[in-house]
Amino acid sequence: MNIVILLGAPGSGKGTIAGRLAGEDPKLKHVSSGDLLRGAVARGTPAGIEAKGYMDKGQLVPDALIAQMIKDVIAETEGDVIMLLDGFPRNVAQAEILEKTGAPIRSVVLVDVPDEIIQDRIAGRRTCPKCKAGYHVKALPPKVEGVCDKCGSDLVVRKDDNPDTVKDRLVVYHRETEPLIAFYEKKGLLRRIDGDQGPEKNAVAFRAVM
Ligand code: ADP
Ligand code: ZN
Repeated sequence: MNIVILLGAPGSGKGTIAGRLAGEDPKLKHVSSGDLLRGAVARGTPAGIEAKGYMDKGQLVPDALIAQMIKDVIAETEGDVIMLLDGFPRNVAQAEILEKTGAPIRSVVLVDVPDEIIQDRIAGRRTCPKCKAGYHVKALPPKVEGVCDKCGSDLVVRKDDNPDTVKDRLVVYHRETEPLIAFYEKKGLLRRIDGDQGPEKNAVAFRAVM
């Protein structure tokens, strides 16, 4: 197993890219910290109960909480697999925890999207609560409005996708997560793609550099 980290602001499209690539290639495994956390919230586990308040406010959940979930997934992932790690690490402390696991990092790809575009993108975002597929009312609409193409479930707007919470998430991104760009650049692991090319081209560009 080795790891490709997706770095990027909320709404940069990293989850869409990872989901697409994993759907095309069984060797690629998409691991989304946000999906792990939302799953724990939905199941009402102790970790989920603790995480919920932070998530609803657009704040980061405690490092130890999310790090344990990621460590568990790493421990159960075996064989010739590339893990597309989406949403973790989100600050330098988490990056150091990941380093200590000894799991090999193949590359870190920054999905670059200007803040101005992010607000619009998130406002139109729709998500399948069942299979986690992501849509956008304009950029990536489902075939039938409000219904998941893949599994037929009704699409939802994520609770933290309202404009005020999005602003807070962007502030957190710039303060906590952006320092990881320099962190991984120093290690020679960082690559960048333009995240404003549309879902298909984004995925192709990502695959080419990862
Ligand atoms: P986005 O990238 O669009 O913000 P995610 O689904 O990755 O959405 O994350 C949603 C929320 O889950 C975050 O705002 C945060 O509260 C929590 N979260 C996800 N990953 C982490 C992490 N690595 N560390 C702390 N909190 C996290
Ligand atoms: Zn679905």
